[in-house]
Amino acid sequence: MRNEEMIIAMKSDATEAQIQEVCRQIESYGYKPHLIRGEERVVIGAVGSGDNKDHLHNLLAEPGVENVVPILQPYKLVNRELKKEKTTIQVGDLEIGGDRFVVMAGPCSVETREQLLETAYAVKEAGAHILRGGAYKPRTSPYDFQGLEEEGLKLLAEARDKTGLKVVTEVVTTEDAELVAEYADIMQVGARNMQNFALLKRLGKINKPVLLKRGMSSTIKELLLSAEYIASHGNEKVMLCERGIRTFETATRNTLDISAVPLLNELSHLPVVIDPSHATGKRSLVKAMAKAGVAAGADGVIIEVHPRPHEAWSDGPQSLTPADFAQVIEELKPYVALESRRMN
Ligand code: PEP
Ligand code: MN
Repeated sequence: MRNEEMIIAMKSDATEAQIQEVCRQIESYGYKPHLIRGEERVVIGAVGSGDNKDHLHNLLAEPGVENVVPILQPYKLVNRELKKEKTTIQVGDLEIGGDRFVVMAGPCSVETREQLLETAYAVKEAGAHILRGGAYKPRTSPYDFQGLEEEGLKLLAEARDKTGLKVVTEVVTTEDAELVAEYADIMQVGARNMQNFALLKRLGKINKPVLLKRGMSSTIKELLLSAEYIASHGNEKVMLCERGIRTFETATRNTLDISAVPLLNELSHLPVVIDPSHATGKRSLVKAMAKAGVAAGADGVIIEVHPRPHEAWSDGPQSLTPADFAQVIEELKPYVALESRRMN
């Protein structure tokens, strides 16, 4: 039986024993209890496909239970119905999804030690919190640069040590997942891999935050179901990233679906990040779209920066110079403040 999962909201004064008893009963009906301890109350998701949803309705009579309501969407754990408060993800001392607007920046690809370190110092100086850079590149053409692989990961780790920035980098295959996790603070799943379910399941087993990018032809529901794959396999530290989708328009590389940001915030409690670089493919548009992302309620932004964009081995046309990037950050500040958030 599918789509019969329920949310059991406990009363704010429910005792621990009552909570445990409800969990026990949920299990006895063949569902998996999923406990969420909010500031006010405990909410328990009964997920999976148990024998009979009427049994779950019976829980209404249990002491300590306030309400039992169905989760209507196919995604459960990432659903805002299950958890009203926004999820915050801790990356070392950095919190994502809280009042800080988080800035991730760096080159599309890790190319050389000099290129990476120069970029890392520059984006740090401009106010970024997290360094981005691909060591494994999912290129559309097999003849294009595929990434420095472990050598690139080592350079990212060196840049982290030198600057104090956290590192987000893409993992492309299940085989590389453990290795990437040794070096990365956040594991990026690229647009082309959003529905690589084997990879999503593996990331569910790895205790590292995930930046899940929306597939270029994926719906919001599919994005949330991909997040659900990771969460249901054990890792709820997922950020959703809107990076533009394919439309009939060819003037931009993709079409930034800005409405995805408030919609994702309505539908899910997970943090939302905007990628104006891949969304537009044009450096001249990045600043305006980053501002739009802030205004739409994004929790962070990921921007491509290269010291010499015209020499970049990938995505040069959308990469900002460090000076341009610093200007973007300056101009974002009042927008961030208007949203009652801060950048540092
Ligand atoms: C990237 O971040 O460099 C990248 C490949 O992005 P996407 O998966 O969104 O195309
Ligand atoms: Mn790129």
